[in-house]
Amino acid sequence: MGGREAVLAFCFSNIKVVSQIESKSIMNIEPSSRISRRTWIKSSIIGLGLPLTVGSSTLAQFDESTLKIGVVTDAHYADKGTLGNRHYRDSVLKMNAVVDIFNQRKLDFAVFMGDLIDGHASTEADLKTLSIVETAFSRFNGVRHYVLGNHDLLKLAKDQFIEHCGAKNPYYSFDRRGYHFVVLDACFNQDNSDYKAGNFNWTEAYVSKEELAWLETDLQQTSHPTVIFTHQRLDDEDSPYGVKNAPVVRNILQQSQVVIAVFQGHNHIWDYRSIYGIHYFSLLALVEGAGLENKSYSTLSLHRDRRIVLEGEGANSPFRNFIAVDPISQRLTTWKEIKSEAISP
Ligand SMILES: [Zn+2]
Repeated sequence: MGGREAVLAFCFSNIKVVSQIESKSIMNIEPSSRISRRTWIKSSIIGLGLPLTVGSSTLAQFDESTLKIGVVTDAHYADKGTLGNRHYRDSVLKMNAVVDIFNQRKLDFAVFMGDLIDGHASTEADLKTLSIVETAFSRFNGVRHYVLGNHDLLKLAKDQFIEHCGAKNPYYSFDRRGYHFVVLDACFNQDNSDYKAGNFNWTEAYVSKEELAWLETDLQQTSHPTVIFTHQRLDDEDSPYGVKNAPVVRNILQQSQVVIAVFQGHNHIWDYRSIYGIHYFSLLALVEGAGLENKSYSTLSLHRDRRIVLEGEGANSPFRNFIAVDPISQRLTTWKEIKSEAISP
């Protein structure tokens, strides 16, 4: 905590897409839990551990209605020497420390966002590596979700990966306390074939046609505010880290009128964009930087007043020293300097 802790908070109530969400799912938002802007400003420093009150309720009571999720990405664990800023062997140590923090925070669930392992010399070596890092992540006292990453599939098939960790399916959705969550799989080649044992070019990532159809139907069937988890980026198809058919995916997300945020790994950097009112966050990789001081993770809180709060730690990041909310515009401020907030779809 302390100086290394960063809190990022903002409200998404003033954006176009959310006003559409409201009309579709207003019954899911408890009127009694709505708070004034003034109180919102006070409670936006929730991560500082200050004794705040919200109306007649204590912040602790208020906080009980908040859904909290631990998010960690790109461990790239492997028993091999450091390459650049990637400290492969340190990832298990860091994962254990991150899980300790997650367990203290009593989260609703945890998500690993892809690239648990780095991809080694053989299937056997990768299964062994996977079991070591999975042992650390599985110490989490709660439900775990996994997104498939390209490095997980350098020597393994998707079903092999899923069999040997707590992953459920390549892509699926679930509900939790009034929210809908979608785990996406963008590990497909352009011809809709699965990434399998290295039969792919990592810069060519696609969401398959079948998955697109499933996603459209899945989002039509929910009225809950929805959060998407994806390894490859959906907000930058021109980048090598971007899903190449991301515009098609974004169109489905926008048309659904329920998606509030997308969380992404793969690029190993903190980043943020807003596209048509949907917030796209990229999260720093666990493998980056040496030792425990460089463990990177985020805790995502979804509040009943429709704030999203992201707390995190991690090296080389503007985010680690960043406690930011613009109480007037209720939008991100500092990250504007990194990347423009809005791009065309
Ligand atoms: Zn990665």
